[in-house]
Amino acid sequence: MNIVRPRLLVLALVLLLAGCGLTRPASRDVQGADTFEDDIRAARTLTESFWTEFFDQQGMTYRPIADFIPYSGSSGPSCGGEPSVPNNAFYCPEGHFIAYDQAWMESLWNDMGDGSVYVIIPHEFGHAVQAQLRTGFELNVQAELQADCYAGGTLAALVGSGSLRAQPGDEDELMTSLEAAGDPTDDWLNPAAHGTAEQRQASFAGGYDDGVGAC
Ligand SMILES: [Zn+2]
Repeated sequence: MNIVRPRLLVLALVLLLAGCGLTRPASRDVQGADTFEDDIRAARTLTESFWTEFFDQQGMTYRPIADFIPYSGSSGPSCGGEPSVPNNAFYCPEGHFIAYDQAWMESLWNDMGDGSVYVIIPHEFGHAVQAQLRTGFELNVQAELQADCYAGGTLAALVGSGSLRAQPGDEDELMTSLEAAGDPTDDWLNPAAHGTAEQRQASFAGGYDDGVGAC
């Protein structure tokens, strides 16, 4: 896998904003060894390991999600009475689970590279963390931007520990993935729900540079 060095991230932000968010061809692992399923599994496992350790350091106990549910189209689990929708990934506080449209996620992985999985999954875990740290958890722009910040901080920690390796081109994958990342219902591309692409990238970069403690 992949990721970003801070200086490259800043450069990528500039390029992305200057380029009106054009997507560039996705990079792949040099070895080409990781399948989509490998990346999905690793993103979940590494992210929860990171948060388990982080909570531990704060004298708290991280509560792992109860389930991690791939679904297809409209057949996903409902959350708080709301049906899931195609082309989405979300955290559900009722039930403390994460679900994702598998074909949609795999198409992002194919089109944008494996960085997409390593942004979206840690973002959703960011909500699972919020639900444990806050009372009255609800989704709004502030919560979305904090989840992006958490995702950046998680990835920086995983790169720092050697669990993930950054590769050339990965920063572009991550930035374009952030533009595509949404979550609650059908709001993936709605700035009113998630913040603008610029806000999201800045928040992600802040977490990457300063760690989740600064989010
Ligand atoms: Zn979100």
